[in-house]
Amino acid sequence: MSLTVIGGGLAGCEAAWQAASRGRNVDLYEMRPKRMTPAHTSGDLAELVCSNSFRSEAPSSAVGALKSEMKVLHSLVLAAAEASRVPAGKALAVDRTAFARFITSAIESHPRIRIHRDEITLLPEKTDTIIATGPLTSPALTRSLIELLGTKTLSFYDAIAPIVDATTIEPSRVFRQSRYDGTKDGDYLNVSLTESEYSFLVDFLRRASVRSHLPELEKPSFFEGCLPIEEMARRGEETLRFGPLKPVGLTDPRTNERPYAVIQLRRESLHGELYNLVGFQTQLSIPDQKTLFRSLFPFRSARFARYGSAHRNTYLDSPRLLAPDLSVLRFPRLRFAGQISGVEGYVESAASGLLAGILAGGEQELPPVETVLGGLVRYITTSAATPFQPMKANWGLVPEPPGRLRKRERNQRRAEISTAAVQNYARRLRLLSPLPS
Ligand SMILES: Cc1cc2nc3c(=O)[nH]c(=O)nc-3n(C[C@H](O)[C@H](O)[C@H](O)COP(=O)(O)OP(=O)(O)OC[C@H]3O[C@@H](n4cnc5c(N)ncnc54)[C@H](O)[C@@H]3O)c2cc1C
Repeated sequence: MSLTVIGGGLAGCEAAWQAASRGRNVDLYEMRPKRMTPAHTSGDLAELVCSNSFRSEAPSSAVGALKSEMKVLHSLVLAAAEASRVPAGKALAVDRTAFARFITSAIESHPRIRIHRDEITLLPEKTDTIIATGPLTSPALTRSLIELLGTKTLSFYDAIAPIVDATTIEPSRVFRQSRYDGTKDGDYLNVSLTESEYSFLVDFLRRASVRSHLPELEKPSFFEGCLPIEEMARRGEETLRFGPLKPVGLTDPRTNERPYAVIQLRRESLHGELYNLVGFQTQLSIPDQKTLFRSLFPFRSARFARYGSAHRNTYLDSPRLLAPDLSVLRFPRLRFAGQISGVEGYVESAASGLLAGILAGGEQELPPVETVLGGLVRYITTSAATPFQPMKANWGLVPEPPGRLRKRERNQRRAEISTAAVQNYARRLRLLSPLPS
């Protein structure tokens, strides 16, 4: 019997790929381009809606370890990221167009996957289905979800960062350097701000209006790790300077000094000079953003390819609804994956899709708790936290390694344990067909 996957984003594509690679026929439903979400701009599968970064590759970071685990499990998303990577220091960042095209063509050419460009508005109860419709699940399907599961999905809002043409920034204020690196050929551009420019920025952000016409907006609440800059500015004069605008680890080669504050820019595409303003996610109205940048000396003539914006984020109360294999307790033929299942982030969404696909492809065994993937899925399906909030990869999800170790050694040890555990897990699963290159 064929498997239905709803949503052709990171989780849905990974799930469809994994299940199909294990011999299952898959019908993948993606509503774009017929019906767009407020954040997607194309009909490509697995479009990245905001940052182009899959975060750190350091094996001692939990998200780095999660990526290593996914590679061992033949992740399509990571194969696409490798094939479309752009320089970004210790992070894995991609050319978003090349990334989405890689996945679209891999899915389109898989003999066991049929793509339907349609919106699903009713949840099927009687077919094996993976729901991976993401944080911007269409309103009709959200209503069906509430009716079927008898519970309210929670909503809140994420803010996204602007993208600028770096050649249009005041050149006397830009220098290339990665943090704590010191050489001139780092992967990041840094825009230095003087003390008075920084104060102007904070003052402006505190006074500026935020968009008031967000649909279905109840009371906006944001993750602590992804606060809009205006919210951070409201928390204190120095909050931004100790947060995304921190100058530590950077030396302006022209003055040989650490700048007062820095806006870091990370490359967006392999070709051209588009960069996003790291951590500069904002809810400000576009006219306010234009006024702000025109008044901030380094950006006075800058051309922006995209201004920041804010969007809905929908996810389930998963610990109360889902079994450890991501299936719905009351409707075991339905599984959830991706951001809607209560994980947070590109890598985590793809990882949960990968697991949902492996299980829907006929495997029974869950990943060991020593792996970040195992720990993450265990957390979202069993957490006692109320209200439940989506979770990113972090080392708190896996058991403490034995012995008294310093933090750095402890994380290295956890990474070694997770690598061994995922390799053993992979050995017990059936082998996949090769990944596209
Ligand atoms: C505005 C915004 C910015 C974000 N920025 C980042 C970031 O910078 N870094 C990060 O790590 N994470 C970010 N996230 C969080 C999250 O990692 C991404 O949303 C990620 O794309 C989630 O993957 P997914 O597969 O769960 O959902 P998606 O990638 O959104 O895929 C879901 C797909 O389902 C489709 N769909 C929706 N409803 C239906 C329906 N009824 N029928 C058929 N198809 C449907 C959509 O069109 C979409 O293609 C952001 C989230 C939002 C909302």
